[in-house]
Amino acid sequence: MAYRVLYREWRPQDFHNLVGQEHISITLQNAINKGRIAHAYIFTGPRGTGKTSTAKILAKAVNCEASIEGEPCNSCNNCKSINEGRSLDVIEIDAASNRGIDEIRDLRERVSFVPTQGKYKVYIIDEVHMLTTEAFNALLKTLEEPPGHILFVLATTEPHRIPSTIMSRCQRFDFRKISPLEMEGRLQEILTSSALTADEGVLTLVVRKADGGLRDAISILDQCISFSNEQITLKTAYEVLGLVKNDALVSLTRAYIEKDAPSLLVQVNNMLKEGLEPGQIIKDFLEHLRSMIILTVCGLDTSLVLGNSEEKEILLQQANDLGIDWLSDTVARLAKIDNESRWRQNMRIVLETTLLGFLWQTETKPILTKKITQPKQKKELMKIVSAPTPVTLEAASTLDKIIEGWDHIMEAIKVRKKSVHAYLTVSEPIEIQEDVLILAFKEGYTFHKEKIQEQDNKKLVEEELEKLLGVRLKVVCNLEEDIDNAEDPVQKALDLFGSEVVTIKD
Ligand SMILES: [Zn+2]
Repeated sequence: MAYRVLYREWRPQDFHNLVGQEHISITLQNAINKGRIAHAYIFTGPRGTGKTSTAKILAKAVNCEASIEGEPCNSCNNCKSINEGRSLDVIEIDAASNRGIDEIRDLRERVSFVPTQGKYKVYIIDEVHMLTTEAFNALLKTLEEPPGHILFVLATTEPHRIPSTIMSRCQRFDFRKISPLEMEGRLQEILTSSALTADEGVLTLVVRKADGGLRDAISILDQCISFSNEQITLKTAYEVLGLVKNDALVSLTRAYIEKDAPSLLVQVNNMLKEGLEPGQIIKDFLEHLRSMIILTVCGLDTSLVLGNSEEKEILLQQANDLGIDWLSDTVARLAKIDNESRWRQNMRIVLETTLLGFLWQTETKPILTKKITQPKQKKELMKIVSAPTPVTLEAASTLDKIIEGWDHIMEAIKVRKKSVHAYLTVSEPIEIQEDVLILAFKEGYTFHKEKIQEQDNKKLVEEELEKLLGVRLKVVCNLEEDIDNAEDPVQKALDLFGSEVVTIKD
């Protein structure tokens, strides 16, 4: 298939076809309609959101011989000559290329000349923040006393770099990122009119990569088309875009749920072998985790997460498995790394160690927010959640020692008092809080719990713990159902002090 430059072909020619910037097109059309045109506009916003296109539509609309309701007709001589790039009344200056020195000097000499064809001479200065101070000063002089036939459109992605003296003389319009839905709509329109189709999910991917810039989205689609026949496959799209496949991200996430470090490393290695960039893997995983958080907060119906309902359900399930605390913490750390320039060196090592680090990241509320039914699983989890952050390391090792030595303690208790051993068989050491060890008893075993809470029995357990650890810990018994609803302060106090509730009356 012959390569075609879709972006040029699909550049909007009137306000009606400008995607996602209705707040601007309506205001400009009204101004043109009522003859209240400012002499200088500044268009700010991310790249590819329609700033230059809008400047050209505006240039046509103010010069059009048959304008209707502020729209250019695109068929009169003025419109045609602007569309074909041969109008002498529309002067485009790219401030990024040579910082505008010659052009602005030239501009000051020429602004007094009247337009050759239409009513307005329109100067479009792209990337205007790149102008030198000298060029800005020259521009300011022109803006201070503009001839009536001059219209300036300054476009910039970095409005904070424009001097306030310039800014204050312009009417400002902020272009916004174009929503995924609007972008997908436009891309679908392009495909349909080109008699092309795409696998489900292709446009979503393109939109994801373009990040709110329609020009980029159309260019990416263009690349996909050039590698395809009539049908753009999902495989082609992933290859062209260099993105991590969705199922690979789901699988990577599963490694975190299962705390499976070897699997994590193998998966990362496979991605690198496929030629994916470490920086892109970080970005895509970050986006994936963000989607999981949004689904947790907003539910499956949200339009903030791209993808079909089946994909969303998988993400939500994984989000529930990992917990919102882990997710938000990981996203914050990952975003920081994504922003850091050290990606340029040793990228592979940074990628691997970063991703591995999240595996052992301490959860904000271990155990108390989670219900773990399998003792083995619980042991493993406790090892992992309380592992290598330096602050909690020593505590972690105490609990580790208890878990490791629990069988030994149980044997020793059995020798001393069989009944205490029997009561303890439905319990697990789960947490250390300062000098308190919390034992969790299985749901429904209130009697067993209460027996261990009896002073003599508790003392026996504490003594055996002391033999193992060399320090004295207090034992506190909780039922798992109480741990799951751990917020009841009275119950907590009761468990802690083993007392009765007394109602005090005046
Ligand atoms: Zn016209």
